[in-house]
Amino acid sequence: MSKGREKHQARLNELSLFGKDLARRSGRKCELCEASGVALKVVEVEPAPKEPDFNYCVFICDSCDDQLRSPKRRDHNHWRCLAQSVWSETPAIQALSIWLVRQIPEDWATDTVEMLFADEHVMQWADTINFDGK
Ligand SMILES: [Zn+2]
Repeated sequence: MSKGREKHQARLNELSLFGKDLARRSGRKCELCEASGVALKVVEVEPAPKEPDFNYCVFICDSCDDQLRSPKRRDHNHWRCLAQSVWSETPAIQALSIWLVRQIPEDWATDTVEMLFADEHVMQWADTINFDGK
């Protein structure tokens, strides 16, 4: 295994330790689309701190994770869930939802962006997120 891969794997192992706390926070439902009874994974929302931090993670399903990273595979209907999740009280979920909803070229998404309200630091966070092409 290369150094880079080893480091990446070590990071994933550390993040997986948050699974229990995130299961509690999420109620075992995807924190974006609220799917339940599905496998959920820990995903870091950039820019993540040097030491893995639970507060910079979201707990989401494979479908959300996949579409998050691939603009071409984004199903706009799937992301209607963002109209709810942009109001999350968890900054990582809120920032990620705000970034994502801005990427959806639909009227409901534009309306959601216009109506949304978030703390300045969450807005700034949303501005720095970029999952496209990762
Ligand atoms: Zn999901």
